[in-house]
Amino acid sequence: MYRSHSCGELRASDINSTVTLSGWVQKTRDKGFMIWVDLRDRYGITQLIFDEERTPSDVVEKAKTLGREFVIQVTGTVIERESKNKNIPTGEIEILVSELNILNEAIVPPFTIEDQTDGGEDIRMKYRYLDIRRNPVKNNLMFRHKVGMLVRNYLSKEDFIEVETPYLIKSTPEGARDFVVPSRMNEGQFYALPQSPQTFKQLLMVGGMDKYFQIVKCFRDEDLRADRQPEFTQIDCEMAFVEQEDILNIFEGLTRHLISEIKGISIQDFPRMTYDEAMRTYGNDKPDIRFEMKFGELNEVTQHKEFKVFNEAELVVGIAVPGGASYTRKEIDKLIDWVKRPQVGALGMVYVKCNEDGSYKSSVDKFYDQEDLAKWAETTNAKPGDLICVLSGQAHKVRGQLSALRMELAERLGLRNPEEFAPLWVVDFPLLEWDEETERYHAMHHPFTSPKPEDIALLDTKPGDVRANAYDLVLNGNEIGGGSIRIHDKETQALMFDHLGFTPDEAKEQFGFLMDAFQYGAPPHGGIAFGFDRLVSILGGQETIRDFIAFPKNNSGRDVMIDAPANIDQEQLKELNIQLDL
Ligand code: ASP
Repeated sequence: MYRSHSCGELRASDINSTVTLSGWVQKTRDKGFMIWVDLRDRYGITQLIFDEERTPSDVVEKAKTLGREFVIQVTGTVIERESKNKNIPTGEIEILVSELNILNEAIVPPFTIEDQTDGGEDIRMKYRYLDIRRNPVKNNLMFRHKVGMLVRNYLSKEDFIEVETPYLIKSTPEGARDFVVPSRMNEGQFYALPQSPQTFKQLLMVGGMDKYFQIVKCFRDEDLRADRQPEFTQIDCEMAFVEQEDILNIFEGLTRHLISEIKGISIQDFPRMTYDEAMRTYGNDKPDIRFEMKFGELNEVTQHKEFKVFNEAELVVGIAVPGGASYTRKEIDKLIDWVKRPQVGALGMVYVKCNEDGSYKSSVDKFYDQEDLAKWAETTNAKPGDLICVLSGQAHKVRGQLSALRMELAERLGLRNPEEFAPLWVVDFPLLEWDEETERYHAMHHPFTSPKPEDIALLDTKPGDVRANAYDLVLNGNEIGGGSIRIHDKETQALMFDHLGFTPDEAKEQFGFLMDAFQYGAPPHGGIAFGFDRLVSILGGQETIRDFIAFPKNNSGRDVMIDAPANIDQEQLKELNIQLDL
């Protein structure tokens, strides 16, 4: 038996018992006549003591050879500690060791394996297995497990069953590129790794599985973006015989359950907002509604004067920054520089200081009088003491820019409290999205999303106006889930493929299996998928999803620990019938 207890378990009530522990040497302190060792395992740290008077001398000698991260097993007696450590649960006791067994030695680790480490990000990623021994990483992985269990239990209780779907498949488009896997047995042919199990979960509905879920890996070959992983985990769900309302209710329930179990917070409001309203009010389809700073559209109250910039703009829009009237000229100039950064891309910014005495001072006083500015304040809901920031230009762009400014200012003003949770459903997404590059419409969600029946007629005339039965779940400004009611008849699906620019032959080749299935009694169905990594990181109160993944890839999509991706040898290439032309 390697251990009778874990290193996090023993308390004062265990004093005088004989115990056996196994673990890693975190630290040793050798005072000559006495040696202390901090012994660590997943459960905690227990202090060991080797004492020349009370410990056999060969054991003391052996203890002197211990180095950091040696794996050892000890047997000894639990005794009361002289100087107690209030900071750890085992701090009242220590183990007076009588037997020491070195299970494995360790070379000096490249960084200290303690909560505060001297190791930078790169080195810790390279030796991720050592980093996992540290509390911050270990606790995150245990937290992830806990969230996963809550999800599984909740959904199982609601009659969902977890079904695995294959990884070696044919492309399922979710708007990214596929990772492909060459098939040795089928020369010249490739599998694609799923961007999501979308088509399979729909086929499960045709198969009568009714309520499905899966905590599942998805693979998307996307260009580098901060905090994206090429492989990531979804809580993937699908239900048959449901309308949008049923799905929103079930997954609102799941979200409430998670926030209540993990944070002890009961969510009161679970508002809904249309995509259009989200864009107009927050410039964003995943608004953070923990704070106000709502957009005020100012076209009407600005476009009647001599100010050309505004008169020519498709949209003039502003937000009120709480307390911003006290910003110095220099601070405001810095803000203007911030919106002009290429990442934001505004051409400039007009501002109005709403003074405490009720007067206004703006950067465009030449064109607008106090009465005009009072209207701006009213439209943006600005109070005395606030600063109104106004951007103008092409509507879609300006909304994005002002949204970026809103988030930045909220961050600076400390309005994004990670302990507050404000979920929101964004509904009625557009079905199609114009893609500048390919000059075509693309499915905004995916090609299987059903248009709102009343909008189908617009497909030919105003495709951009067609709304979908699609919804996103937003939490604190992050999209944590998204889904839709699906098309479940062959004709509508064919119509959709046609509008997405597939010829009937192409549609048949890629998705014939789905269209075929729709002929055999496909029930109405719909579903949703949550980004599990992101959900866990938000519930864990931290920013980066990498911190909650055991073996993440870096920002270039590399695993620096195992050094992947890597070359493969000629033999393997030959077997796969692949010729590299490098
Ligand atoms: N398959 C979709 C996604 O991965 C989610 C869904 O529609 O259920 O985003």
